[in-house]
Amino acid sequence: MENLGTPLLDRAPKAINWYAVVSSQESIVPYMMDNGLLKKEMTCTHCASDMNLCKRKDISDSLQWKCPACLLTSSIRRSSIFEKSKLPLRKLMELVYYFGIDLQIYEVEKLSDISHVSVIEWFDQFRIVCKESLTNDPVLLGSNSEHLIEIDESLFGKKRKYHRGTGKQDTWVFGMVEKGSRKVILQIVEKRDRKTLLPIIQENVAEGAHINSDCWAAYNTLEKEGFVHKTVNHSKEFKAQDGTCTNEIEGIWGLAKLKIKSMKGKSKLPLRKLMELVYYFGIDLQIYEVEKLSDISHVSVIEWFEQFRIVCKESLTNDPVLLGSNSEHLIEID
Ligand SMILES: [Zn+2]
Repeated sequence: MENLGTPLLDRAPKAINWYAVVSSQESIVPYMMDNGLLKKEMTCTHCASDMNLCKRKDISDSLQWKCPACLLTSSIRRSSIFEKSKLPLRKLMELVYYFGIDLQIYEVEKLSDISHVSVIEWFDQFRIVCKESLTNDPVLLGSNSEHLIEIDESLFGKKRKYHRGTGKQDTWVFGMVEKGSRKVILQIVEKRDRKTLLPIIQENVAEGAHINSDCWAAYNTLEKEGFVHKTVNHSKEFKAQDGTCTNEIEGIWGLAKLKIKSMKGKSKLPLRKLMELVYYFGIDLQIYEVEKLSDISHVSVIEWFEQFRIVCKESLTNDPVLLGSNSEHLIEID
């Protein structure tokens, strides 16, 4: 089940290609094997010989494993998350696809004719697989030396004039983006000093990676820590003479703030909580997980997520040009 985490989302093929894959049993099985959804090799439980893949017209999967020594057979689903399912592989792959393109349960239910409970159970299963893969194999930015990392901090929210003393209204968020791969890590930080930011960079960015940032003093030692570090002085220019810029991470700030702005005035939640919700929404957590993590009620989480989805949809449908209108700003939605 390795390589099934975020890459599952990244690798979700275009619908047109997907149809080609799921339209026949001959293409589904190799696809599932190549992508770690079914085992590519099987060992006989009886005599430990390597088993062979054999055609079988009388079974629904149309293939099975067969031991050349003792003739024991076993399902191609053995040792996969689909082992206990009676759904055809085509249906299961339909679910994987809907999961990959981030459809909501009620939408999947309608499109697939699979029951509400069953969709929830499968999506839970897929999430477990993704989590395992992300835990065992955490996202490391810059491991491919061709990918440039941009880092930046941004202040979310303003101190309000009233409600003084009721707590901090502003929140620093530290962001790291790997250009060209859509991998983004955002983290709420208490301070934006070196002591806070450096360990986060060291934990999430591969040693020796190329990092672009502004001239914030906390980044001064990055070269010394083994990174290739270039800066752009934002008090002077958006792009340094050598081309160094931080446009991609700034685009992400813009998008995140757009979401927050659309929510202003509607919420009694502290901005910090709202940012937490935006973050959970962004990393695609499910309602019940967000509920647990944030201590925000089920209904409230659902309402906010609905709100975020509307904002995303609106910004995509009404203003598709706006996002890319400034050629300096490469904005990725992720
Ligand atoms: Zn055997």
